[in-house]
Amino acid sequence: MLININGTNTPKEEAGISVFDHGFLYGDGVFEGLRVYNGRIFKSREHLQRLYESAQVLCLKIPLTMKEMSQRLENCLKEDKTTNAYIRLIVTRGVGALGIDPRKCEKSNVIIIISDISLYPKEYYKKGIAIITASVRRNRPDTINPRIKSLNYLNNILAKIEAQNAGCMEALLLNDRGFVAECTADNIFMVKKGRLYTPPVHEGALEGITRQTILDLAEITGLETHQSPITQFDLYTADEVFMSGTACELMAIIKIDGRTIGTGAPGPEFKALLKGFQKLSAA
Ligand code: PMP
Repeated sequence: MLININGTNTPKEEAGISVFDHGFLYGDGVFEGLRVYNGRIFKSREHLQRLYESAQVLCLKIPLTMKEMSQRLENCLKEDKTTNAYIRLIVTRGVGALGIDPRKCEKSNVIIIISDISLYPKEYYKKGIAIITASVRRNRPDTINPRIKSLNYLNNILAKIEAQNAGCMEALLLNDRGFVAECTADNIFMVKKGRLYTPPVHEGALEGITRQTILDLAEITGLETHQSPITQFDLYTADEVFMSGTACELMAIIKIDGRTIGTGAPGPEFKALLKGFQKLSAA
């Protein structure tokens, strides 16, 4: 475990930021979750690109160039001496006044946490999980655009609470027009008649790095891919459904709103993509 705040390593017990940081007060900030496999940060450039794009949309100035940020991550990793880890990179608006005015925050804070993460018990990776559709809808792009990976996750958290109240671990979020967007912190895929489908980002999905990796892998293996609007009907009648994300990696979804998906077990296309993903990440 390593915690670095604005370039200085800080023991866990002492690691903290001001209660006047607008990241804390208003969720005003951006973040990334990255994985380290065999000592290498997986898709580092893509994650940093997304971080800087999210910051750009929020008019949030990151006090490091992308190259400097990449170097800082590498230095932290070297110091931590871990070869397999999860990295949380956070940039907050910084300390300001009470009141949302972002101009009163002089300097953003850059926080790096190198740790591990385990979202689901191991056995679920073998058998898959059941999910429900949340009643809460994904933010419309003209509210908080879901493409911004911001510190404001209440939309997702409300859906997660619904899932837990229904005895599930995960929820599906639809967009305001009733099309499938994504899960609470993961992208969603379905396989039907030998083709792979995932919602396009304009339907409310984050442009997931794992999502893109899966699309690339599918293309390589000759599995036809489509980024097209998906409905609940499509998911209920799919051969396979699964989700993808940096923290969760790949997880099969075997039941949605009480409907068993396919055979009710992780399917062959999922297993092949999982194998390809493991090979790629370990390379
Ligand atoms: N959707 C949301 C809302 C997310 O927060 C994440 C990241 N946890 C994802 C999808 C998956 O993105 P990635 O593959 O880049 O981790």
